[in-house]
Amino acid sequence: MQLDLPLGDGDNAHLRLSNAALTIGLGMNLVYTFDLSGRLFGAFREGRNLRRGLDGRVLARWRDNQRRRRRIWLSEAECKRLLEDVRRDLERILAAEPPTAYASVLQRARTFDYDEDVLRFRQVYRPISILPPDQYQALVLQATEGCSFNTCIFCALYRDREFRIKSPAGFAAHIQAVKGLLREGVRLRRSIFLADANALVIPQERLLPLFAEIARAFEIMPHTVSAAQRSAWLQTHPNGVTGVFAFVDGLSAERKSVEDFRTLRERGLRRVYIGLESGHEPLLAWLRKPSTAAEMLDAVKRMKQAGLHIGVIVLTGVGGRRFHEGHCHDTAAILNAMPLGRDDIIYLSPFQPDPLAPYLEIAQAEGIEPPDPEFAREQNRLIRALLTLPPPPAGPKRAPYNLSDFVY
Ligand code: SF4
Repeated sequence: MQLDLPLGDGDNAHLRLSNAALTIGLGMNLVYTFDLSGRLFGAFREGRNLRRGLDGRVLARWRDNQRRRRRIWLSEAECKRLLEDVRRDLERILAAEPPTAYASVLQRARTFDYDEDVLRFRQVYRPISILPPDQYQALVLQATEGCSFNTCIFCALYRDREFRIKSPAGFAAHIQAVKGLLREGVRLRRSIFLADANALVIPQERLLPLFAEIARAFEIMPHTVSAAQRSAWLQTHPNGVTGVFAFVDGLSAERKSVEDFRTLRERGLRRVYIGLESGHEPLLAWLRKPSTAAEMLDAVKRMKQAGLHIGVIVLTGVGGRRFHEGHCHDTAAILNAMPLGRDDIIYLSPFQPDPLAPYLEIAQAEGIEPPDPEFAREQNRLIRALLTLPPPPAGPKRAPYNLSDFVY
């Protein structure tokens, strides 16, 4: 529902309330979005899109005069100023006495305790290191913590924690804690991402009880609901989620049969994301990836056979000129060999070195040049050009995956 509300000072507020969020427009250049617990989720002001994470950080994105994409994390002082401005605007709107349905969310937003919320977020979650771009708005449930490998020289995402798998009781408590943290805000999150790094590494007999806990806590959209029926299903199931999504690595996928994946699909698993990084075996070995390209191809084939959708992640610019030819040609070849269709995604991610990972040091010692954005773009173009898979809508989407855009 929508409402145009004249404010006492001559301004107008445009309010839009759905079963997931409240959006407020003030004039032409100011928009705020809140989840239904009153937590600021996003904003547009001063020509910048702002996205606030549950950890309290705010990422600002905009295009500069040359139409180049720019992004910056707001400083703590800027975040504080933003929240103060939001509170002042909410007071102006509440003073205009909006109808009760709006007023209750506005009141929650005005009194929202952000410090307490961030504190609780840190108690409920280990840091959420990364998600696939189509899952940035998912409800993350950490069935595992960390990565069971932690070997890849370019990745330091999970080096801060020991790998562990939660027990069903521990996982159930985590789900309740997440729900308690998000309260009504849970409705903004319409899918579940089973974290951390490769949650599907969990042996099947331990994984199924965890899926049972998810089913106890959420209504999962059946896979028989078509894409065209999806919005209607979500409208009529305000607490429903479209499914469960997770990362997997080739080695862990090897340990699951087609039947195992089929069972997981029946329990709600929808799309699995696999970090191929490259189809070039020498580059994968140099990067110390735990699985080979051949294993990952086999894993994708088996998951597709089980009816799952796939997201394949490729790194562009990694390994420098030494691996350039092999990386581009072998990656395109392995992607072309994957049975990817309209529900699958190929993510091309420009490699950005993590200073906490050993990549830069090893590369320098071996005479491999540091990553360069233009080189990553060149590889992106070449790999795309070598793809023979049909383009969308019949074939898989090709999408960028920029790690600097991630905010949860
Ligand atoms: S890239 Fe994946 S498998 Fe490798 S260390 Fe990072 S999270 Fe683990």
